[in-house]
Amino acid sequence: MSLAENYKKIHDKLPKEVTLIAVSKTKPVAAIQELYNAGVRDFGENKIQEMCEKYEALPKDIRWHMIGHVQSNKVKYMAHFVTLIHGVDKSSLLKEINKRAKTENKIQQILLQVKIAKEDSKQGMDLATAKEILNSKQQYKNIQIVGLMGMATLTEDTEQIRTEFASLNHAFLALQKEHPELKILSMGMSGDYHIAIQEGSTMVRIGSKIFGKRNYS
Ligand SMILES: *Cc1c(COP(=O)(O)O)cnc(C)c1O
Repeated sequence: MSLAENYKKIHDKLPKEVTLIAVSKTKPVAAIQELYNAGVRDFGENKIQEMCEKYEALPKDIRWHMIGHVQSNKVKYMAHFVTLIHGVDKSSLLKEINKRAKTENKIQQILLQVKIAKEDSKQGMDLATAKEILNSKQQYKNIQIVGLMGMATLTEDTEQIRTEFASLNHAFLALQKEHPELKILSMGMSGDYHIAIQEGSTMVRIGSKIFGKRNYS
């Protein structure tokens, strides 16, 4: 099947309120262009430098999503074009994003990445920190916090994955009462997006199910 067919097969079965992000990390510009030509506009990358190179090479109406871990010293390279930063995992990063967004004269939309997985390797802040940041959001005049992002443990245990996604959705709904601007719950990847959607996801980030396996060698 072509990339566009892979994409369509997933996209057509999603509830209409769920946004599909095509995760193109490690994949060539030509593959992104192919999907673009089929009408796809939301792409996700996890390395800032790689995303910048692809931004330069591709049509400028693509909506770029930074889904990976963000280093403060690299925010400046993507500040002028990134649509949504999913991986905001500490308050020092908000300071830097706010500063760079101000320079660009834009309001930067971000998600707070909350740690739900049991693995140590998964990034993310704890819920208490997310609450603190939301309660002090007025200090970040050039940032709009529009939701939460989370990654489940990499495991075969679907009940554990479900429990982790459900706990994030629970926190999301509770925070929404005080912060109605929280609209996006970014959770779910190729292996677990069906569960994520059942547990309240509004945005899924799918790579290998669209583009095929990644080759890191
Ligand atoms: C790579 C990546 C994805 C997509 O992973 P697949 O399993 O290929 O769908 C989603 N989210 C994040 C944060 C990623 O780094």
